[in-house]
Amino acid sequence: MSAIKVHDKYFVPYLSEEEIQHHIQEIAAKINTDYADKKPLFIAILNGSFMFAADLFKHIAIDCEICFIKLASYKGTKSTGQVVTPIGLDTDVTGRDIIIVEDIVDTGKTLNHFLPQLHNQQPTSLKLAILLHKPTATVYPIKIDYCGFSIPDKFVVGYGLDYNGLGRNIRSIYQLQENEA
Ligand code: 5GP
Repeated sequence: MSAIKVHDKYFVPYLSEEEIQHHIQEIAAKINTDYADKKPLFIAILNGSFMFAADLFKHIAIDCEICFIKLASYKGTKSTGQVVTPIGLDTDVTGRDIIIVEDIVDTGKTLNHFLPQLHNQQPTSLKLAILLHKPTATVYPIKIDYCGFSIPDKFVVGYGLDYNGLGRNIRSIYQLQENEA
């Protein structure tokens, strides 16, 4: 596979479809075991997590529910630091076992903003399933319970993740080419 161009930037292959699916199945297997006697509510954070949430959910074999919220903090290839909630939570989380499904934790700002709001509603438990984590970029420490991949602090696209709106439909994950900023 060779580099692709999204808008003005070049990206190189980074995580294959097979690797991604394999790690998702491992996360699902752990969740199936950990929640065997429970009925968790998955909260998937749009937009970026829609592919991860769909593929993860297909491998969840216990009774469960899913709902979606939309949080945003990115513009181009950089975090703005401002978190907005274009679509809020419409489901009661009080007394529920919650699993947050998020595509990527970068600075941690988005979840750092959202998690206290959720805690205030007193869920029974709250865990995080994150496909990609950039540990060296994380400013707000977040405890990740189920992590797909730890990756370097480089911008990635594909598998739900975009660069200014494009690239979400790519089945694998690409990384910004070395000489691009
Ligand atoms: P954080 O608040 O942790 O800094 O960033 C979380 C959000 O920023 C993610 O949900 C995602 O939308 C966006 N984001 C962070 N890093 C990347 C990246 O490398 N590529 C893309 N496409 N989005 C990213």
